[in-house]
Amino acid sequence: MERRRVVVKVGDEVPQVGTLAFGIVDRGTNVIEVRPTSLCPLSCIYCSVNAGPRSRNRWAEFTVEPGTLLGALEDVVRFKGVNDVEVHIDGMGEPGVYPHLTELIKGAKSIRGVSVVSMQTRLYMLTEDKLRELANVGLDRINLSIDTLNPERARYLSGTSWYDVKRVMELARTALDLGINVIASPVWLPGINDEDVRELITWARNAGLGMGKLPPVLIQKYIPHKRGRKVKVRVMPWGEFWRELRRWEVELGVRLTMSNEEMNIHKAPELPRPFKVNEEVKVHIISRGLIRGEFLGVVKPLRNDVVYDRVITVVAKPELEELLINSTVRVRVIENDHNIYIGELIIK
Ligand code: SF4
Repeated sequence: MERRRVVVKVGDEVPQVGTLAFGIVDRGTNVIEVRPTSLCPLSCIYCSVNAGPRSRNRWAEFTVEPGTLLGALEDVVRFKGVNDVEVHIDGMGEPGVYPHLTELIKGAKSIRGVSVVSMQTRLYMLTEDKLRELANVGLDRINLSIDTLNPERARYLSGTSWYDVKRVMELARTALDLGINVIASPVWLPGINDEDVRELITWARNAGLGMGKLPPVLIQKYIPHKRGRKVKVRVMPWGEFWRELRRWEVELGVRLTMSNEEMNIHKAPELPRPFKVNEEVKVHIISRGLIRGEFLGVVKPLRNDVVYDRVITVVAKPELEELLINSTVRVRVIENDHNIYIGELIIK
């Protein structure tokens, strides 16, 4: 049994809707999530998607051809029929390592109906020149994942000895100088980085993050995920979390919350869900899925229409790999929330 992870290059033959691992995720708003790669060189100790070299449960990674992603994005934007779409580049990896980032941002920004292109990143892998390039093709905002300004704790939290948070702070300032807005989005791990988050808020405010239009920092609550890496900390109830944020807002005189309305996030037509839960579908298995024991399949027959074609994650015993890949099987859909399809193999 092959233990190493494989990297699957995704092209035009693969639908771009149906998985969280790559492609397009539509949650029924004017924000469309675009996921070019699941690769990440860091191994954050709390990573909810279990990415990076230290992942123990991934057995495949995905990277999408830019033309494939942009073609699908254009169709989804057209389907939405609104003129204020925000394309948010994120994913189950680090979009900053995607080699076609400039092409992706340039293409996304030129689609009629797209008003904002933003990106979630840790920023450390970019250079001043690259940021200039991204600013020139229209990147509007960076949501900066940064959990502390303390270099040692930053290395600990990122699970990576070479991660340099001071360099990240320099790059954030450069992005602002180039006209790209930056907001920090630290994960708050109670008992580990409480003081760091407070320090981060002060730095972000003084450095001009948010550009006076958005809060400089939007703090993320730590939530352990079933398949993510977990940290032994107290999981704060939501009520307490919001109370603490309001307390910090008053104490530091900084806005730390914002409503969807203020962020211009609103409902917009959601892609139809072509397959129902419990429905049996015919699936051509093309590769492993992201997590060991998952396979990636294309639901057949294809209509060659982004709005209706789907990929599906099929759960099956890893030992069946040789038998399953490149074969066509029957699958029962067990989940289809927001068009993320999970199915189980039907063995007759
Ligand atoms: S939290 Fe983000 S940067 Fe850290 S390992 Fe996960 S995907 Fe990579």
